Amino acid sequence: MKDLINEAARIIRDSKLTLALTGAGISVESGIPDFRSAGGLWTRFNPEEYATISAFRSAPEKVWEMLSEMGKIVDDAKPNKAHLGLGELERMGFLHTIITQNVDNLHQEGGAKNVIEYHGNSSTLTCLSCGEHYNADEKRHENPPRCGCQEILKPDVVFFGETIPPEALSRSFLLAAGAEALMVIGTSATVSPANTIPTTAKEKGAKIIEINMEKTHLTDYVTDIFLQGSAGEIVEALVAEIKGLL
Ligand code: NAD
Ligand code: ZN
Repeated sequence: MKDLINEAARIIRDSKLTLALTGAGISVESGIPDFRSAGGLWTRFNPEEYATISAFRSAPEKVWEMLSEMGKIVDDAKPNKAHLGLGELERMGFLHTIITQNVDNLHQEGGAKNVIEYHGNSSTLTCLSCGEHYNADEKRHENPPRCGCQEILKPDVVFFGETIPPEALSRSFLLAAGAEALMVIGTSATVSPANTIPTTAKEKGAKIIEINMEKTHLTDYVTDIFLQGSAGEIVEALVAEIKGLL
């Protein structure tokens, strides 16, 4: 493992454009469960039933039961060593942009400035009926939150069945095509189209460094260096190794 971390650190030190693609796994050590972990939120709220746009349109009150529980967990969560380490790499000039599938704001709280929120953000709400926008904070006491027109509001996160915000999509694709290194951290890389970012980067010549507790479908086919373990520990070790090379 020590050798692999050293190899990954050298790639990042020498790369002119490094990206990180992150998923729910990077926030597990902050106490936010991913879709695959046993127990907790997602065993009670099946994402296929609760996180689709058709579920929201047909039963928004029911979907808000899940959203408010997730909201409470996210409100209490603090950035962990992986978020903080990526923030530090960005400040040191070794990380250009983070593309995150998460909607928990922990990269920004961990000090990162260049974050593309591929699946949106839960801090704003939109009315699907009249198009009015609200800050989630101003509607915090309402459950479910309603628009002035009485329609139940939807958070500006991307539900299954919705399209990716066009700017996030095009910027991510352009960056992936120009990257020399890509860290893929805590994502099963199964949700489309975020899962095309590693293959796009690889085809254009980027080295792929994957950090995950378990192998994914990328590991044997796309990944160049697989660092198995928790995101917090591995990112911390990687940042220390990069500093040691300077
Ligand atoms: P996923 O649940 O499909 O996969 C999580 C991956 O993280 C798995 O491969 C798992 O092995 C790995 N993992 C778990 N704990 C880890 C740790 N401590 N260190 C390193 N790796 C770890 O998540 P996904 O690929 O991101 O796709 C699910 C979708 O749901 C995404 O859109 C995701 O952002 C969203 N979601 C977001 C949050 C959040 O905002 N924090 C939470 C749950 C789901
Ligand atoms: Zn409205």
